[in-house]
Amino acid sequence: MSGERFEKEFSEMMALMERHGSVLVTGHIDPDGDCIGSMFAIALMLEEMGKTVMCYAPGEISELFLKLPGASMLARREDASNFKHDLIIAVDSPNTARTEHFARPCENEDVINIDHHPTNEMYGCVNIVDGDAAATTVLVYRFFMSSAPDRMTSDIADCLYLGILMDTGGFRFRNVDSEALRVSSELLDLGARAFDLAHEYIYMKKFSTLKLLGLVLDSLRLHLDGRAATMEVTSEMLEKSGTTLKDSEGFVDYGAALDDVELVALFRETAPGEIRVSLRSKNHYDVSALAERFGGGGHVRAAGLTLETADLASARETIVKGFKEMLD
Ligand code: 5GP
Ligand code: MN
Repeated sequence: MSGERFEKEFSEMMALMERHGSVLVTGHIDPDGDCIGSMFAIALMLEEMGKTVMCYAPGEISELFLKLPGASMLARREDASNFKHDLIIAVDSPNTARTEHFARPCENEDVINIDHHPTNEMYGCVNIVDGDAAATTVLVYRFFMSSAPDRMTSDIADCLYLGILMDTGGFRFRNVDSEALRVSSELLDLGARAFDLAHEYIYMKKFSTLKLLGLVLDSLRLHLDGRAATMEVTSEMLEKSGTTLKDSEGFVDYGAALDDVELVALFRETAPGEIRVSLRSKNHYDVSALAERFGGGGHVRAAGLTLETADLASARETIVKGFKEMLD
């Protein structure tokens, strides 16, 4: 846990939220549970304060998130683009490009940047960035406790708990620290539904998703004496199982289940001529450095990038070569 408490930033954030009437809460493309949980928690608070609020993150949003409290404030892209706001709050997004520029640098309007990516570019007027926090919702929790403890509700507790639950892979990843566990415990006391959230967001899968998992696991390959693993999601697999790309969320972690595997890559055909690559490192290798070489980024042990190619085999070759350099 980092020692930084952001007392000054939290009071600046509160002052901006009080001063402005219309707020856009935004996050990164293809938002995960941490991004969604952070957005909804802040939006629920703003709504209670009587503000006009819209939440928007580009890309695909899992329908599971639509059941969460706060989901009614999720806007369509067009509505978010036309929304006249005087404050932007960006969550879980290291730079404005990750939000497809719905977040903007602090120039002509007030921007709050709250995130736990070490590569964050500090684009906000107020920057609450702690690369050691297990999830962005841990930072949002610190904000509530410091500036608005009376505004915490069981709905907000659910959203914040979900961020920690999902960014730690159900409390399994190396980012689990005493603060993540302490905040989770406090969120339970505040009404978070630990079992229901774990069941719905970690354990439960649709029939079609399990069928897709079968196909993806069948593509598992080992490289570099079993120290690296790759898997792929092709459009044929999606068609055959009746799924979409977002149904493969979390599949990359299966590669790390193998004892000797240190590095994992999952390749997904996202558009013609475009392959998204998710990278994972089990222990100490830094996959964000590899992702950055190709214009991507992320954390030491979880990063992503996009390759402009239609050829899965060449994408695999490129990444395995990068893995080899890391392991040598
Ligand atoms: P995932 O593989 O789950 O899509 O992403 C893993 C982590 O890397 C996430 O924390 C995500 O925010 C980050 N990440 C994924 N793709 C990119 C990218 O293209 N650029 C940056 N800066 N970060 C990324
Ligand atoms: Mn996160």
